[in-house]
Amino acid sequence: MGKEKLKVLFLSAEAVPFAKVGGLADVAGALPKAFRALGHDVRLMIPRYGSIRSNQFAFEKLGKPFPVVRGPGEELVHLIHTTTADDVPVYLLWDEKYFSARERVYGFDDDPQRFAFFGRAIIAALPHLDWMPDIIHANDWHTAIVPTWLAYEGRYLREYRHLASLFTIHNLAYQGISGRLILTFARMDYVKHLDVEPPGQVNWMAQGIANADLVNTVSPRYAQDILNPAVGGDLTTLLEQRQDRLCGVLNGIDTDLWNPATDPAIPQQFDLSTLQMRAVNKAALQQQARLPVRSDVPLVGMVTRLDYVKGIDSLEPILEHALANDIQFVLLGTGQPEYHEMLQALQARFPDKMQLFLRYDEALARRIYAGCDIFFMPSRFEPCGLGQIIAMRYGAVPVVHKTGGLADTVIDYHEQPDKATGFTFTPFSPEAGLDGLKRALRVFRSRKDWQALQSNGMKADFSWTNSAKKYVELYRRALELHAQG
Ligand code: ADP
Repeated sequence: MGKEKLKVLFLSAEAVPFAKVGGLADVAGALPKAFRALGHDVRLMIPRYGSIRSNQFAFEKLGKPFPVVRGPGEELVHLIHTTTADDVPVYLLWDEKYFSARERVYGFDDDPQRFAFFGRAIIAALPHLDWMPDIIHANDWHTAIVPTWLAYEGRYLREYRHLASLFTIHNLAYQGISGRLILTFARMDYVKHLDVEPPGQVNWMAQGIANADLVNTVSPRYAQDILNPAVGGDLTTLLEQRQDRLCGVLNGIDTDLWNPATDPAIPQQFDLSTLQMRAVNKAALQQQARLPVRSDVPLVGMVTRLDYVKGIDSLEPILEHALANDIQFVLLGTGQPEYHEMLQALQARFPDKMQLFLRYDEALARRIYAGCDIFFMPSRFEPCGLGQIIAMRYGAVPVVHKTGGLADTVIDYHEQPDKATGFTFTPFSPEAGLDGLKRALRVFRSRKDWQALQSNGMKADFSWTNSAKKYVELYRRALELHAQG
């Protein structure tokens, strides 16, 4: 098995620079690049959404459109190809009904059909690529249909039976549950009902876990957390059964794309040796947020989807108390309407201390990472989390709930003062969250200690290199397990 070059097809619903909703896109944009740097042939496959315009990328059509099954009928799909600036070949599946006619990635009533169709299109596309992978790396429920199909049908077909599969759980909170008619739609009625699935329903996340050769999560701690019913929920028993095939590999970030020394989106570029120049970014952020421009006041920032799993409901009681102190708070995020309303009501009460940006804005996200003092991430659960990692790289000190990848990446000031990169709190409660923030606010007053926290975070290695090597080991193990049958 040794060192031969692996051929991997990486499947994702979103990928930087084509379409991004959250961290999955960052991973799908960065990890294939890191594999290629290790000498492997990794290619990416994503849907072509309407938002991915042909004038932004050099697209080339490959061959003729091919039919993809859909219920009793078929739909024609075009295969298009491009290569990223980092030399990663990318295949995009272009249909007229489910993807290219819509701008958004998720959030449609027919998402189960859309992604079942994406899965069937991937399977149908493989013989048209002029290239056959050894490994299918499926990510989250949107692509779980592929390892499921391989386990039931592909294993009996000459062109597909060699394909080993790795299924990565980026977030167990989104499972892709729908009625079993989806199997008729995908022409996969043979898929067995799993004990953990609700009666008459299919849970694609569960199917991916049950059918892939190997399964991993995006941090070691989260691989443990999901064995606890409080996090694993209905899937805990299945995950326990698959424990010998389950592990965690910590996400990294693309350190070229996330680099405060070169980031064109921030007003003042800086690195560790010019850390004092970071103050320019803080002032610019305060100005953009229409808050008093003051260097002495601690500025707390958040960049987040506004979702239950991110602990947004805990913000109301936390901020009510925290904003009574001399602090400022900025939040960039979008998501559930009830959270938009709750945050707007809070802002109305603290207009000179808090500013909201309720939208998706990549450049502003970067300015927040580069300008805030404290990056707050009170996620209820967190498979890995990239926000806190980016924050540390940009010299902001994270305050996080000690769960999943947050626990694996942030070293608490009071636990290990010398190595500390931030503050972790537990349990998940407004009191503990407030306490975490208050501890950070106290240390903020000591310039020397604060700079040590910033410096430790900026020096930490969150590049993909180590994790990509671990994935290569997983690919090799998946191939071995697959060969054993
Ligand atoms: P998740 O994938 O659960 O959303 P992560 O922390 O893993 O959480 O990744 C979030 C990614 O999405 C980060 O790159 C973050 O900067 C980005 N992001 C989240 N919300 C926004 C927003 N409103 N505008 C710009 N970027 C955002």
